[in-house]
Amino acid sequence: MEVLRLKYEKNEILKKDKAIEVCFKCSTCSKFCPITQNVKKYNLENSFVTHLFETEKEVALNDVWMCCACEKCLITCPQDTNPTDAFTNLKEISYREGHAPETVYRLVDQLLQEGTVYALKFTNLARKRAGMKGIEKNEKSVEEINKLAEKTGLKGKEGGK
Ligand code: SF4
Ligand code: SF4
Repeated sequence: MEVLRLKYEKNEILKKDKAIEVCFKCSTCSKFCPITQNVKKYNLENSFVTHLFETEKEVALNDVWMCCACEKCLITCPQDTNPTDAFTNLKEISYREGHAPETVYRLVDQLLQEGTVYALKFTNLARKRAGMKGIEKNEKSVEEINKLAEKTGLKGKEGGK
């Protein structure tokens, strides 16, 4: 059985977990992966997991966002590889290089502005309709989130592509 060959950014993708290097494309995880099971272009022989590692970098950086991080691949893999972790790293690269979906950049922008992923204006309208008290922006939390975002490289990219 062939061992998986990463085509790009190998060191960066594997920086947190090198276990993916022992993936031998057995497709066990793909029987449970919701993407392989539900997206027409994938099947057990050409699964979402192996496609992401063996396609061109540009394609992988766009397609990785289909992964919903359900961890079914992590739980079912007989080799203890960790595609979920590797895909989280791939999402980080994708985000940094401007390939993430626009929605992701908008959510980050919102988070850094108000500390919540939904605009407080709309949240408070819904709360008012339900007879609930409105929520106020927590300046200290926003400050801390922005500090974290600076340290992790999240900040400065929220404008998107
Ligand atoms: S974590 Fe991603 S790759 Fe793994 S099973 Fe879930 S959707 Fe598929
Ligand atoms: S179950 Fe593990 S070894 Fe098999 S294809 Fe999935 S990640 Fe690779």
